[in-house]
This record gives sequence, structure tokens and C-alpha cells, in this order.
Amino acid sequence: MSLNKKESSSNTELSQGNTPELPSIASPLNDQQLNQLQQTVTSLSSQQLAWVSGYFWGLSQNQPAAAAAPINQAAAVVATKPAGKLSIIFASQTGNAKGVAEALEQEAKAQGIAVALYDASDYKGKNLAKETHVIVVASTNGEGEAPDNAIELHEFLQSKKAPKLPNLNYAVIGLGDSSYEFFCQTGKDFDAYLSKLGATSFIDRIDCDVDYEAQAKEWRGKALESVKEALSSGTEADVVQLPVGQAAVGHSQYNKQNPYTATLLASQKVTGRDSGKDVRHIEIDLDGSGITYQPGDALGVWYENSSELANAILAKVGLSGVESVDVEGESLSIHSALVAKYEITSANPQLVSKFAELSGSKKLQKLVENKDKLREYASNTQIIDVLGEKKTKLTAEELVGLLRGLTPRLYSIASAQSEVEEEVHLTVGVVEYAQGDETRFGGASSFLSHRLEEGAEVKVFIENNNNFKLPQDDNTPVIMIGPGTGIAPFRSFLQERDNRDAQGKNWLFFGDRTFTQDFLYQVEWQKYLKSGLLTQLDVAFSRDQQDKIYVQHRILENGEKLWQWIQDGAYLYICGDATRMAKDVHEALIEIAQQHGKLSRQQAEELMNNLRKEKRYQRDVY
Ligand code: NAP
Repeated sequence: MSLNKKESSSNTELSQGNTPELPSIASPLNDQQLNQLQQTVTSLSSQQLAWVSGYFWGLSQNQPAAAAAPINQAAAVVATKPAGKLSIIFASQTGNAKGVAEALEQEAKAQGIAVALYDASDYKGKNLAKETHVIVVASTNGEGEAPDNAIELHEFLQSKKAPKLPNLNYAVIGLGDSSYEFFCQTGKDFDAYLSKLGATSFIDRIDCDVDYEAQAKEWRGKALESVKEALSSGTEADVVQLPVGQAAVGHSQYNKQNPYTATLLASQKVTGRDSGKDVRHIEIDLDGSGITYQPGDALGVWYENSSELANAILAKVGLSGVESVDVEGESLSIHSALVAKYEITSANPQLVSKFAELSGSKKLQKLVENKDKLREYASNTQIIDVLGEKKTKLTAEELVGLLRGLTPRLYSIASAQSEVEEEVHLTVGVVEYAQGDETRFGGASSFLSHRLEEGAEVKVFIENNNNFKLPQDDNTPVIMIGPGTGIAPFRSFLQERDNRDAQGKNWLFFGDRTFTQDFLYQVEWQKYLKSGLLTQLDVAFSRDQQDKIYVQHRILENGEKLWQWIQDGAYLYICGDATRMAKDVHEALIEIAQQHGKLSRQQAEELMNNLRKEKRYQRDVY
């Protein structure tokens, strides 16, 4: 069914509750079809009609019905002007880009813009040729790679199969971390690919850093203004108010901006007395919150900084702490602002560059000239030690001008609700190291493990991760690779499979420093081995012998068997360190495919790519 402008005004009337009547205009339908349609629409409410119009619009775009429907069923597409909707596509790893995309969707709806929201993995690249307005919200993985949910779309747009896009107006907002070399690379890529395919950018791309909220909000406002202007083409009738539907299934009222105030039930050290690491098993009570989560999801934790650290920073720059600063329209003492509003532990290259200028430190100024060295220094030095490079008096405004806003930390959830019900468990590695005579602590990990008493309040929210999920079919075998605190989601997976009485085989690879001190959740794995839930457990303790033994060594030793599991349809999961471990494990998997599958290097890489596309190779790494 195609709708034209005259139909638009009819639809506007319908949505205001007038009697449904099909427009008496030239129609591509024959009389019989029109009659049937007439009979059907008279039984529908205006809201149902609005939904149906969006549904048919989606079908006309050759998408399967499920994919055509927007992610949130509430976002029924009401396209009074068929080519006049806004599609928002998110490429998201940890949920930030998804959050920005959802905010865009809500704001577009509030302005009466017809809008559809897509996870990049559900979006068919060739459909871009049928769009008029698209906004891509893209985050970037560590080394400039696209997030897992967008790898296919990212590849497609560079391929020969990508369509020309002369009618497409697009905008890109990139999210990233400027501490990394390939800052916002995926956003830059999407911008370049769309432009190369002939699409026109309707607003300049912005590349947002970790404290992106305010900048992203301003950009969203400008982008939607532009979309609204283009879609309405000066007539009110082209833009209609969308129906407000019910929230998506499992959607909680709590989110990053509106976290739930939970209580800490337990914080227990799970590494031995003589371990070089302090890893905590944390239990948080969600009782009465109605919050639900799935294995593979993450918990966002808002934390407060240490008051002592805030005082030490203030002393370094000659401030007493009572000086007031304006934070988002609120006047606060600089001490309170440092504790509750700003990141005061991890440094970043911008902070170092700005302080180099303010302080005139020769050492820092030299570092600023070499981007690689600057990044390395910033990632290995806490803010207090950057400020310590040269004694410098700063005003309160100058100090906060150096800092990024506080952002919540995300931890992979280590429990399944089928086991722990209204609790959520985490496995937290406490960041703590000596710096000269002093000890430096991580912001969130020391909050959870040292400063938060059991029974105290902690603000949390669930960050869904659809890129790290157990297979739907409980009979599917799974292979889980999780050294260190990367073990967390696999505790959740196994609890879930245990409670679901899933029959699929489970193989766990775990690695850490020593068997006696660092074997996280050992008793639980032994219990699962005994019950048969865990089919096989392979461990690699790197410091129990002279030569390092890592999980990938165990994977290679079991190459033939592992290859057989893959042939039998196993799903592969990796969680933990992204920079070295995940790459080395990936290499080991390629090696196994070559050796036991007799594939060339290129074929082995293609196999891994295909497994990833089929969601049989999922990673939660950073
Ligand atoms: P870790 O530093 O990753 O160490 C665990 C084990 O891995 C050690 O035996 C270590 O050996 C070994 N290892 C070092 N290099 C390796 C490599 N290239 N390949 C394979 N193994 C290697 O453990 P962690 O301190 O617990 O940190 C875990 C990582 O996971 C962190 O980067 C964290 O951010 C990330 N992560 C955590 C979560 C969570 O929710 N807790 C979720 C996702 C990711 P040696 O030290 O003896 O060399």
C-alpha cells in the first residue's frame, strides 16, 4: 500500500479519532482489494491503524515482518509520507551507542517524527537505498574495529555489493575514548562509506569522548531539527504524532540516567591471602526493584570517588576544597564536585596536554609531541600523579576544566536470576598499586571493595548485551574461554544452564596466575564437573611454572576435540582482556581450523567471520 500526501492528511485525521474512511484517490489497489481493506479498517482503533500503516510500510521495504517492526514495539512507524521516516541504526558494544540511539528515538517521537530504531546486526545494508534519512550512532572497539553487532554492516558498506545512495541523507555520531589511537574510528568509517556511496550528510559528524552525554544531547537536538524540517517540507500534515505504546518486554524503569538504589549484600575476597591480586565476589540486592537481567548482560555501577583522593588532588593545586564550582547549573564545593561529579583517577591524553600547557612542565610538553608516548603515559598514570609532575596553582574552574565527567563502570554479571533471583553478583578485580610511598586505587573497584560497607547503598542499572547470549537451543554445546575476571559471565551461563536443565555440553577454559591463590570459584566448577553440567574444564596457571601457560595453550592442546565441537555446532565465547588475550585466543582458534579443518589461513578467517555473523562466536572483551 503506498500512501501519498492526500492520504497523509487522512491519516492525521484518523489518528485524531475521526471515522476511518479510505481516501477516494487514485489507488494501486483494485475495487475488491479496496473493499476488503475498507471492511478491515473500520474495526480498528486509530492507534491500531497507525501501527498497521507502519507495519505495511516496513513490509513494503522487503523486510521480514519481525525485522520490519521497530525494536521497541512502542515505536510503531507511522509514515504518513512513505519515504519520510527517520531510521536510527546503532553499532554498540557496551550499550552507550544504543543508549544514545534510544534517546534519539524518544526525542524524535516526541517531535512527531516517524522513526524506526535498528540494532545494526538486524539491519540489511541494501535497504539503505530505500531510506531518505538515516542516523548512525557508532561506538568503536579498542583498536578501531567496529562493535561486534555492526561488523557485517561495516563490511557490507565497503564491499562491491553496497548500493549507490544518491537519495540518502545521513548523519553519524561517533562514540569513543580519546585515550585510544583510533578514536571514534567506526563512526568515521560509516561517515566515509556513506559519503562515498553518494549519500549526503545533513549535519556534520561529531566524535564524542567518554563523557559524551552533554555533547551528544546537543547534537541530537540539531540533527532532529534538521530531520524535522526536511520531513515536514513546510506542511504540518507530513509529520504526525506517533502513538505511545507500552514499554518493551523486560524493559526496566531504571537506566543509566535513572539508576536503582540497591544495597550491597556482600563483598568477599575470592583470591588467596598470598595472591598478588585482590578479586572480590560482590553481591548486590535488587529486592523489590523489578529489575530483570539475562546471562551475558552487564551491571552499570555509579560510584563516588574517595574523599581522601579528592583532598590530595586539591592540595596538589593549592585549593582548600570550599571553593565553589558550577556543575550542570548546580553550585557545589569543589570537594563535593570531585567526589561525586568528575573522573579523578584515570588520566587521558587531553588532560595531560591541557595540564602541560597550564603548568609549563617540560616533561609533559615533550610527551605531548609524541602521540604514542602520550597515550601510553596517560593510560599508566593517575591524575594525581600527572598533577604532581610540576607544582602548579590552579583555580577551581581550571581544575574542573581538566577533568571529564564521572561515568559509571560496567561489570559483566556473574549470576543468573534463575539461581539468585533478586540479587546480582559481580567479579571485580580491585585496582591497587604502589606509586612511590603511596598507594593508588581504581575508582569504582575500590569503592565497591573498600569504601562501601555491607548494607550500604549503591546506584546500579542493567546494560543489556545482546551480543553475548547463550544459544536459544539448550542442546547446543558451548565453549567458554574466560581467564581472570573474564570468568564472570560464565558463572552466569552455567547457573542458567543448570537451572534450565539444559542438555547441551559445556566446556570451560579458565586461566590465572596460580592454582592455590587465584582459582576463582574453584568449588563451584568442581561441583558442576561432578554433577555433569560441566563436560570439561581446562585450566592454565601462568605463574606456577617457569614458562607461561595461558588458556590458548590449553585450547591448542585440545585442538582436535575443540574442532569436533565446532563441527557439532558449538558456540564459542571469550571474555576478558581485549588487548592481548582475546587476540591470542583468536589466533589459536584460527590455527586449529587450519590444522584440524585443513583450511587455508584465509578460509579459517572466513570461518571465524561466519561464526561471528551466525552469533556462534561472541566476545565480551575490553
Ligand atoms: P588478567 O590480567 O587477564 O590475567 C588472567 C590470566 O591471564 C593470568 O594468568 C595472566 O598471566 C594471563 N594472561 C596474560 N596475558 C595473556 C595473554 N596474552 N593471553 C592469555 N592469557 C594471558 O586477569 P584480570 O586481572 O582478572 O583481568 C581480566 C581482564 O578482563 C581485564 O582486562 C578486565 O578489564 C577484563 N574484563 C573483566 C570483566 C569483568 O566483569 N570482571 C568483564 C570483561 C572483561 P600473567 O599475568 O602471569 O602473564
